[in-house]
Amino acid sequence: MAQADIALIGLAVMGQNLILNMNDHGFVVCAFNRTVSKVDDFLANEAKGTKVVGAHSLEEMVSKLKTPRRIILLVKAGQAVDDFIDRLVPLLDTGDIIIDGGNSEYRDTTRRCRSLKAKGILFVGSGVSGGEEGARYGPSLMPGGDKEAWPHIKTIFQGIAAKVGTGEPCCDWVGDEGAGHFVKMVHNGIEYGDMQLICEAYHLMRDVLGMGHDEMAKVFEEWNKTELDSFLIEITANILKFQDSDGKHLLPKIRDSAGQKGTGKWTAISALEYGVPVTLIGEAVFARCLSSLKDERIQASKKLKGPQKIQFEGDKKAFLEDIRKALYASKIVSYAQGFMLLRQAATELGWTLNYGGVALMWRGGCIIRSVFLGKIKDAFDRNPQLQNLLLDDFFKSAVEDCQGSWRRAVSTGVQAGIPMPCFTTALSFYDGYRHEMLPANLIQAQRDYFGAHTYELLAKPGQFIHTNWTGHG
Ligand code: NAP
Repeated sequence: MAQADIALIGLAVMGQNLILNMNDHGFVVCAFNRTVSKVDDFLANEAKGTKVVGAHSLEEMVSKLKTPRRIILLVKAGQAVDDFIDRLVPLLDTGDIIIDGGNSEYRDTTRRCRSLKAKGILFVGSGVSGGEEGARYGPSLMPGGDKEAWPHIKTIFQGIAAKVGTGEPCCDWVGDEGAGHFVKMVHNGIEYGDMQLICEAYHLMRDVLGMGHDEMAKVFEEWNKTELDSFLIEITANILKFQDSDGKHLLPKIRDSAGQKGTGKWTAISALEYGVPVTLIGEAVFARCLSSLKDERIQASKKLKGPQKIQFEGDKKAFLEDIRKALYASKIVSYAQGFMLLRQAATELGWTLNYGGVALMWRGGCIIRSVFLGKIKDAFDRNPQLQNLLLDDFFKSAVEDCQGSWRRAVSTGVQAGIPMPCFTTALSFYDGYRHEMLPANLIQAQRDYFGAHTYELLAKPGQFIHTNWTGHG
């Protein structure tokens, strides 16, 4: 008998928590998993006492669903998603809905959307962010795909999503085809950038100012009461003060080799493909790559010399404020770059994206959640056509206010030999973006010199000419 509002396939950490979240909000969920024994385990343990029902086959699962059927996949991205879609299609009717909530590549989502549309099935690719905790108590949800599906899933999605302000859900329709997964991918890239920026601030505090972990924790706690108020700053303070069972701080014992699962890299690849200078996320990905060369770095550290270590003799409190402002200004640049990428992809792929809505979806529930995202939403509310976040009055004056500090933090760090790939690339981007004239005239001349690639004159845009630079025939 049809009884369940929605089905969820994939009983790993995300799937289980999302099911319990939907159950809390009054929806009856039917659970299924490739390894079927996990269904019974889940019903007997985590889902005990709830309204969750289980199925031991896809046929049974489909038979338990109200129509149009709504099925969420939360399985490993890639082939597993295609395999389940192939198995589901023969069991479904026109107008039924398949939702992929995994971290799928946006082009896969576009492909699936098109092929399922041809079969009468509505496909949605939804970004889900917030990890285990978010899935359980309120994730950020970024659905895109076949818009006909939205009225049928909106109540569930907005019901279970995180809420901010006066109860606004961190979930809205993102756009066509792979738009939801593209926005989720950029979110993850920005997450890489935010994390690396915090690491650079930590590095300056630790190695220039020689601060201890509890002292640094207090600084991050203070920063969390400023414009930097965010989940990542909050957890950084907690991590810094966390003590191991031996009473010593745990953080310095952790191997400095960062892992990655790929979505930051995808954002950087997309930035290159669309020709958008998303330099900060690129540097954040490369910083993780460099960190992972641990053995090589150990060798190099014995051979390659940096500047002589000097004792910081300036005003410590003032320098901490310089670091804070360097972090804030760099973060503004990172988000400006992320939204540039969204805008370019939307233009090329024909998506209509609601940028303020995207900022609201990231405002709560997800890893990059912050008060700052509310300011970004305000900027797009003031001007939905805003070309670049840096040109919004609020962010323009915020960067102006930070600029002196930003430059001091970067130059002090460079003098001390501290790597700050994201602080420095953000500043270079800012300086590049605000320059009417860049030295690219020389690149054009060089290209024309060796390859007859032609150039334009400033006075005659649109007319491409070639010069015989050597006088040779
Ligand atoms: P996961 O480890 O990525 O995937 C495990 C689930 O996928 C299990 O249900 C597993 O079934 C199924 N699966 C794996 N390979 C399969 C195959 N070849 N065919 C069919 N099913 C297969 O689980 P997760 O961490 O909960 O993540 C689920 C999705 O959400 C992923 O796309 C992930 O990238 C995304 N995501 C994760 C997080 C997070 O914090 N973990 C956050 C946001 C998004 P069996 O039990 O049978 O092995």
